[in-house]
Amino acid sequence: MSDPKNYSFSWDDLGDSDSGRPNLGSTTSVTAYRLLAFTFKEVLCRDYGLEKTRQLFVRAGHLAGSQFCRNLLDTGLEFEAFIAQLKQVLIDQGIGVLRIEAADLQQLAFTLTVSEDLDCSGLSVYGDTVCDYDEGFLAGIMEEYTGKEFAAEEIDCWATGDRTCRFKVTARDADD
Ligand SMILES: [Zn+2]
Repeated sequence: MSDPKNYSFSWDDLGDSDSGRPNLGSTTSVTAYRLLAFTFKEVLCRDYGLEKTRQLFVRAGHLAGSQFCRNLLDTGLEFEAFIAQLKQVLIDQGIGVLRIEAADLQQLAFTLTVSEDLDCSGLSVYGDTVCDYDEGFLAGIMEEYTGKEFAAEEIDCWATGDRTCRFKVTARDADD
């Protein structure tokens, strides 16, 4: 947060939590994470409506995914090795358990599941997907890795009554 008037996120903004929290450490609880995320969503919804709020969460997730990839992943790896690394880092970070259900490497179209998802696993069933941030996050990671624009859509979610979140993640056509 070097220039508050012209804010531009960088990984360094996350600080050094190991030295800053010598007793509590660099991890927190799912409750603390969800409390932050869901109260942000609530306040934004009141001012901007649900649709706009969802778009904002997708955009924030996209920025997060791209920075996550740039800072924690090796984009020089071949696809299978990259995904294996991504799975492990998502587990290490306590974000979720990723599985590739289907992959079309020609079309760059993937069906991914995330189980034990940080954003939604264990929520009440609302009848609608809630992982907008994850949609952007997954698209941002794939975009950073491939250099192509991606879109992601959550088609199953804990909040729709499923036991895993399922995402369609596809490269946008160049003329979209
Ligand atoms: Zn979900």
